[in-house]
Amino acid sequence: MKFLVHTYGCQMNVRDSEAVEAMLLAAGHTKASGEDDAELVIVNSCTVRQKAEEKAVGKTGNLCAAGKLTGLMGCAVKRLGEDVFKRLPKLDFAVGPRAIGLIPKIIADGRYPRLELGDDMMSQALASHVEGGVQAFVTVLVGCDNRCSYCIVPDVRGHEYSRPAREVVAEVRALVENGVKEVCLLGQSVLRYGVRNPAWFDSDPPSAGGYREAFPRLLEALAAIPGLKRIRFTSAHPKGCTDELMRAYREFPQVCRHLHLPVQSGSDRILEDMGRHYTRAEYLAAVAKLRGFDPEFALTTDVIVGYPGETEADFEATRSLMQEAGFDNSFVFKYSPRPGTRSAAKPDDVPKAEKERRDQVLLADQEARGLARNSRLVGTVREVMVEGPSKRNKARFSGRDSGNRIVVWDVSPDSPPLRTGEMVKLRIIDAHAQILIAENLV
Ligand code: SAH
Ligand code: SF4
Repeated sequence: MKFLVHTYGCQMNVRDSEAVEAMLLAAGHTKASGEDDAELVIVNSCTVRQKAEEKAVGKTGNLCAAGKLTGLMGCAVKRLGEDVFKRLPKLDFAVGPRAIGLIPKIIADGRYPRLELGDDMMSQALASHVEGGVQAFVTVLVGCDNRCSYCIVPDVRGHEYSRPAREVVAEVRALVENGVKEVCLLGQSVLRYGVRNPAWFDSDPPSAGGYREAFPRLLEALAAIPGLKRIRFTSAHPKGCTDELMRAYREFPQVCRHLHLPVQSGSDRILEDMGRHYTRAEYLAAVAKLRGFDPEFALTTDVIVGYPGETEADFEATRSLMQEAGFDNSFVFKYSPRPGTRSAAKPDDVPKAEKERRDQVLLADQEARGLARNSRLVGTVREVMVEGPSKRNKARFSGRDSGNRIVVWDVSPDSPPLRTGEMVKLRIIDAHAQILIAENLV
């Protein structure tokens, strides 16, 4: 059958879609060239905010109307349960995020409608697959037990579980043998790797080291794989910014100098209410540690504006924290109550227009700050991994530095061809808020 997978949401979903595609190909199905050509369409959904869920469900509704075999997978399925067929009466099958491994069998069985929510221990299809790319996402930790007040992720992705290190290392080794040069390790709170359940190499006794040991040790094992040029990971929590993690940054040049460290708010009162388990000061201490050994260490974050009870003073605290932390980039979300979460029981009392205003203020701040941060790099030489011709201008090449900053540069027609995954040293000649312009060294 010719299939197509549409993906909404985070990197975790991108990886899950890749896994589903690989399983369908292995079962003898083929990729469609586009929607018209597809006989089977699967939408991978997000539910972290109501708008995100509506987008995925709306898209699925349109596809159902087109009369194709249509499936919905991912987080919105787990949240909606049986109700998914009330929302989408023509839907053929629906599969929760921990049941995606069942998709080939569901299609082989051909009995519809069908709903598989998946239990906690999982038909989950954890192994990563990439086709010909140089970058791969690798799940190391699934689920989440943090239960931040606003967040639906623990309800839909289940309990935290760390994959055995042996399995992760073998998988990355296989990816590298197939041409992968950069991996991004995924987990909702990835530095908690090996904390809830020991995830050690089988030969080792489980360690009591938790935060201090498990993840840094995984990095060490991955850094020993020849041919793996870059190791990234996301998302992080300040508690995981231990001295041991700092040592891994210092000792292994493959470990990229970028951390996505969601802060959510700069107000202690709000952080406490959210159940984030850090204060503003603790968060900033983690930032100081990271920037201490490399002032150009790139930091990105997520922020929520308009959380229940967020006052102007709370918002200004977020604003000043973002400036103090000097984020290189940030993602701002307008608070959206999610049914069943703790904060959904509180009045959603920041008016829509005010959420919008706070969003715009933070975006404008970030634009100025991003430009200022990037401008400091003008005149320096950065090592860049080639990703390919730039999307906007085919005469230019595009890649990223260790800090995940996008770098673009002109290639002269007579210079030797660049290959994706190659490392080049470039001089930065200009800076924008989200992009660096470079030139070849001569
Ligand atoms: N596990 C990650 C976050 C995953 S959700 C972490 O803790 O770092 C991605 C982002 O969505 C969050 O960082 C948060 O900023 C945003 N988000 C989550 N729930 C939200 C809600 N109910 N309303 C608005 N934004 C939300
Ligand atoms: Fe959600 Fe908090 Fe878990 Fe992140 S750490 S997925 S924000 S509950």
